[in-house]
Amino acid sequence: GTALAAIDAAIRIIPDFPQPGILFRDITPLLADPKAFALAQALLLERARSFSPDAIVAVEARGFLFGAPLALDLAVPLVPVRKPGKLPADTHSVDYGLEYGTDRLEIHSDALARGARVLLVDDLLATGGTVRAAADLVERLGADVVGALFLIELTGLGGAERLAEAHIGVSALLR
Ligand code: 5GP
Repeated sequence: GTALAAIDAAIRIIPDFPQPGILFRDITPLLADPKAFALAQALLLERARSFSPDAIVAVEARGFLFGAPLALDLAVPLVPVRKPGKLPADTHSVDYGLEYGTDRLEIHSDALARGARVLLVDDLLATGGTVRAAADLVERLGADVVGALFLIELTGLGGAERLAEAHIGVSALLR
């Protein structure tokens, strides 16, 4: 509807970033537009609520921007998944392949209760490698991934299919 069109209009496409041939979806204009940002957050909250999560796990760094307000609104714990070497306490880590290379993600070992219903949050789904890695971390702590929520899903890169293989349902405001 018109709300989604307003959110879409606040996302800018930057060609050839971070590499030639990539059309990067830049969310910073959305962050700079309080009306559009609030609208996006309200719609994400509606989606998030439908998963009845016990915790939000947000992926560094843009996932934090959307995941933190959701955790506050739902009054559930916010758990960061971070790049290597950032979390100070005991961690679990996982290596993964990403659209532009390989990387590692970490989570605090004591961050989630066993059996907790976890909703994963990130800004954008591309190949699904990042959120698949975050899901592996959540499962290693004995918690359950109930879904993955994104502002944007890029179709045609196999992300939703890759997450479906891991029995993770995808919800996204924009496709
Ligand atoms: P994936 O692992 O699904 O291939 O890539 C998704 C991850 O890369 C997310 O953490 C996301 O923030 C980042 N990413 C990849 N492409 C884009 C893009 O075009 N725009 C933004 N904002 N993030 C991207």
